Amino acid sequence: MIESNVDLQPLNTLAIDACAAHFARVETLEDLREALHFARAGKLPILPLGGGSNIVLTGNFPGLVIHLDMRGLELEEVAGGTRVSAAAGENWHGLVMHTVERGLGGLENLALIPGRIGAAPIQNIGAYGVELRDSFYDLQAVHIPTGELHEFTAVDCQFGYRDSVFKGRARDQYIITRVRLHLSEEWSAHTEYPALKHYLDEHHEGAGPLTPVEIAHAVTAIRNSKLPDPAQIPNAGSFFKNPVVGDEDYHRLKAAFPDLVAFPFEGRWKLAAGWLIDQAGWRGYRRDSVGVHDRQALVLVNPGRGSGAEVTGLAFDIATDIRDKFGVELEPEPRYYP
Ligand code: FAD
Ligand code: NAP
Repeated sequence: MIESNVDLQPLNTLAIDACAAHFARVETLEDLREALHFARAGKLPILPLGGGSNIVLTGNFPGLVIHLDMRGLELEEVAGGTRVSAAAGENWHGLVMHTVERGLGGLENLALIPGRIGAAPIQNIGAYGVELRDSFYDLQAVHIPTGELHEFTAVDCQFGYRDSVFKGRARDQYIITRVRLHLSEEWSAHTEYPALKHYLDEHHEGAGPLTPVEIAHAVTAIRNSKLPDPAQIPNAGSFFKNPVVGDEDYHRLKAAFPDLVAFPFEGRWKLAAGWLIDQAGWRGYRRDSVGVHDRQALVLVNPGRGSGAEVTGLAFDIATDIRDKFGVELEPEPRYYP
């Protein structure tokens, strides 16, 4: 069941050429426990892998990559809505379409986000003003040190903006095996993001109220027009988190850059990192194998299938330039391994 020296290039959306010293594809809880036993016996570091769309491989991984491939998707009517139960290896976008095509609302703004269910809680995936936590019910995860199965409620997960307990206190402690969502029958559309609003104004003919599937199709069309498809142009989506700053920084920047794109956020200000990078002149930039996408400066691309060092080198130079020009710190969103 455990393979050695496995090529990870097809398994990360940046298409970085790197190897796993050991690799296990797990389809059941039993497989997972055996893989963990192998890692424990060899004192190996572990990399739980889903779709590989939010990682940067900076070199070969010296431990055990555990590719979560458990399948299973169930829908159940419960009081007030529908309970969705999905195994970690199910494709996220597939789940979204499965629900909206049955008239169920809640996930439509999250259409076309790459990756698998098991990774969705890690950064509380979000897009167009909706986050996983808005529909989250609970999850099941295996505790890596003991192999025990634990349950996490939404409160336990400590969801924040592109954040959860699995990036904080519980980092590297759990492998998520199943996620349950609650899709409320009291659904309302969230179409306030300008790109979505604009698209729907142009394309929705006013024939009755908007449905979840129509919104999912709109989100899909907008994303296809703006974001590079990793299968064509390797990338990991937004490379940096949107920085959140206080009033003082916001007013300093707004005075110097009146067009600054910023949004009130939990008593502070969320700056559009893509706008900062674009203003600094990086959009469309190319260097050897890597570059910055020409339609969205927040996305670093790897069309030449360059190394992790090339990708992180470019990210470092961009972050340094943004610090120099705006006095703002950019933090990468994907996790670097090893
Ligand atoms: P991976 O990249 O495989 O893993 C990501 C992290 O989670 C790693 O640290 C990994 O070890 C850990 N992990 C994975 N599975 C498990 C598990 N079962 N248990 C424990 N840990 C696990 N993100 C958004 O939030 N919103 C977006 O709109 C969005 N758009 C994107 C668009 C593009 C084109 C791309 C390439 C990425 C985008 N992303 C977006 C980022 C990414 O798709 C999400 O973060 C997604 O949830 C990652 O899923 P994955 O299965 O590929 O995770
Ligand atoms: P966009 O719609 O051009 O918006 C640019 C930025 O402004 C985004 O960062 C967004 O913040 C913010 N924003 C826009 N309207 C807002 C509003 N009404 N209230 C609060 N904030 C607002 O962004 P985009 O790049 O095309 O992406 C569209 C959506 O998909 C965004 O939500 C983005 O986060 C998500 N996305 C994420 C990734 C990823 O890898 N994480 C990749 C692609 C797209 P938020 O980012 O906080 O939403």
